[in-house]
Amino acid sequence: GEKKETDLNSLAEEFLKLSYHGLRAKDKSFNANFKLDLDPTLPKVKVVASDIGRVILNLVNNAFYACADRSQSTSNGKAQLVQDGHQDNGYEPEVIVSSRQTPNGIELSVRDNGPGIPDSIKEKIFQPFYTTKPTGSGTGLGLSLSYDIVRAHGGKIKVFSKKGEMTEFIISLPFSN
Ligand code: ADP
Ligand code: MG
Repeated sequence: GEKKETDLNSLAEEFLKLSYHGLRAKDKSFNANFKLDLDPTLPKVKVVASDIGRVILNLVNNAFYACADRSQSTSNGKAQLVQDGHQDNGYEPEVIVSSRQTPNGIELSVRDNGPGIPDSIKEKIFQPFYTTKPTGSGTGLGLSLSYDIVRAHGGKIKVFSKKGEMTEFIISLPFSN
């Protein structure tokens, strides 16, 4: 695809909704809150919209999956105690996508309150074929592909996570690349 001036707020909203409704269509019991916290003055950025859309879709799919994973571990009696030993009743799954302007570009953040990513695997998640999902449900290619796409735009992708609490992926994209 060609790089074009793109409204990343619209792209983020489109792919967040696509992911949510896609997951609902596959599994009626799937449920999560999602929120958009978008900077209304966000300048357009020159990107290959289909590629960056794919990155957003990968990140939000992962985020919803993480929420579903934590929901499941809280509702099947046995695993009511999470890692830290604190009770995890009343868990409300939530995914938040936000955008903001930086001095030389923009940032998009995808945050979930799923189980988090253990430090021991943080290094591996961007490697091709690395997945912790059951056989057949994850290819392990989402983050590796996302990393390559963001790099091809001169940008960066970073992850912050707190075990048992949250995960946040931040993509930064420069105005000129
Ligand atoms: P896949 O989704 O097919 O497993 P990805 O490359 O998208 O492949 O992700 C690789 C791994 O990174 C996942 O299997 C999971 O272990 C971890 N991961 C990614 N996003 C999250 C998240 N939001 N919360 C917890 N773990 C995550
Ligand atoms: Mg994935």
